[in-house]
Amino acid sequence: MPFRLPATRINWVNSSFLIGSALVSVTAVPLYLWSYGVGPFQLGLFAAFFCATGLSITVGYHRLFAHLTFRARWPVKLFTLLFGAAAFENSALEWVSDHRKHHQHTDHDDDPYSVTHGFWHAHMGWILFKLNAEPPRDNVADLEKDALLRWQDRYYLPLSVGVGFLLPALLGWLHAGGVGALGGLLLAGVARVTAVQHMTFCINSLCHTIGRRPYSSRCSARDSWIMALFTFGEGYHNYHHEFQYDYRNGVRWWQWDPTKWTIWLLERVRLVRGLRRVPHEKILLAQLAETRRRLATVLGSPPRPLPERVREMLQASEARLAAIAAGWAAARADCGNRADVQIDRARAGMAELRRELRQAWRVLARARAVG
Ligand SMILES: [Zn+2]
Ligand SMILES: [Zn+2]
Repeated sequence: MPFRLPATRINWVNSSFLIGSALVSVTAVPLYLWSYGVGPFQLGLFAAFFCATGLSITVGYHRLFAHLTFRARWPVKLFTLLFGAAAFENSALEWVSDHRKHHQHTDHDDDPYSVTHGFWHAHMGWILFKLNAEPPRDNVADLEKDALLRWQDRYYLPLSVGVGFLLPALLGWLHAGGVGALGGLLLAGVARVTAVQHMTFCINSLCHTIGRRPYSSRCSARDSWIMALFTFGEGYHNYHHEFQYDYRNGVRWWQWDPTKWTIWLLERVRLVRGLRRVPHEKILLAQLAETRRRLATVLGSPPRPLPERVREMLQASEARLAAIAAGWAAARADCGNRADVQIDRARAGMAELRRELRQAWRVLARARAVG
């Protein structure tokens, strides 16, 4: 059957902008570079606008407004609203409304960008086509009380065009006249918008497709350090879906998460406060629960009978995991320092278990390959 576009459901405004900006990025931008070359100013302008708009989405739209993971003073709000608009991803109120639905209904029909409807639907199909009637914006009442957010929502279009296209053109003009203005518009304007938009789209598509699920396999969100490199740290998406109120996505200090480092720095200069962190023990419990879930799946419904040795190893691991979880819960009831000791013990136990499990899985894979 030939492929037919659902023409009546095309969102013409969004489609024209998304496809138009992508086309300009692969035609007019290389033509400009070929004709005029590129100097440090244009490269710096592109990098500055890429970081300002990308971080405004991750720091502002996402971790501040959507999840309230910290509180911010007005300069931070104003900056992220202005440069967030310049990413052309809708007003903060609209963006947050969609995103909160994504978290509330992950992988189900009411998730606006559910990956269960296909990779391309999650990436950008949901923006190009109107598959469902526009749902009401009924989950951002807390943000609608804020005059700055209402102002940005009302003047979203002039703000996005002004900060996203006219400002880089103006800066380019001040630097090198007409050619500079054209360079600013094409590079720090159009090409940068395309790059930031696809960075955000990747969080909805690739971050629900590639990577591991150490904290919970109950939803499709995944942790991937490779994705974190391209998304200002949003690639630790499995952690984020499990603990959405944490200002960090990369929870370990060494995990690449420029968004959390920016928020932390803003706290140092007292522009933000009240950073919310999930306690270590809660994170550890989630990892324990997930490991037990995986074990139960393997033990409960193997595709083929498990070799006796593997079954014994897995059952022993399962029992030890249960003991660690129970011991930890008891220590927590006791509270105080003993809980810390128990957490350390649980961590050491987890590391040992991980080694055992890896070995069991290797034996299992070998047994299956032979069988
Ligand atoms: Zn989120
Ligand atoms: Zn997600």
